[in-house]
Amino acid sequence: MSSRQVTRWVRPEELKSALFVVWVIISGVMLLVLVAPFCVPADSLAVLLPECASMRLHGKPCLLCGMTTAFIHIARAEFAEARAANRLGLPLYALFVANELALALFLCSRKRVGRAGGEAPFNQRACTSRGDRS
Ligand SMILES: [Zn+2]
Repeated sequence: MSSRQVTRWVRPEELKSALFVVWVIISGVMLLVLVAPFCVPADSLAVLLPECASMRLHGKPCLLCGMTTAFIHIARAEFAEARAANRLGLPLYALFVANELALALFLCSRKRVGRAGGEAPFNQRACTSRGDRS
C-alpha cells in the first residue's frame, strides 16, 4: 500500500476542535470539583459521593481515598489537614487550578483574535471550512 492510499479519518482541524471540546468539558468538571467545597456543606458532599470501590471490594484504600476531605480542607486553607487526608490533594488541587487558568487564558486569547478580525480560532474553523471557500 502506498502512502497515497492512506485514508485520513479525521482532518487535523476537526481533531483540534474535538480535543478543545473535551478539554472544555473536563475543565467544567474540574471547576465543579474546585467550587463544590465552597458551596456544598462537607456532610452533604460525603453523602453525595459514592463509596470507594477499592475499600468496598478489597478493604484497601485507593490513590484517591481522602481526596474529597483534602479538597474540603484546602478550601478552608487547612493545608496540613489536607496533606494528612491525602498527600496528592494539594498537587492535584494546584493542577486543577492551573488548568482552569490555562483555559481562561486560552479563551481570552481566542476572543482577542476574533475581535481583531484575524483568522477564526481553530475550533470554529472546523465548522466553517468544509470545502466551501468563497
Ligand atoms: Zn478510594
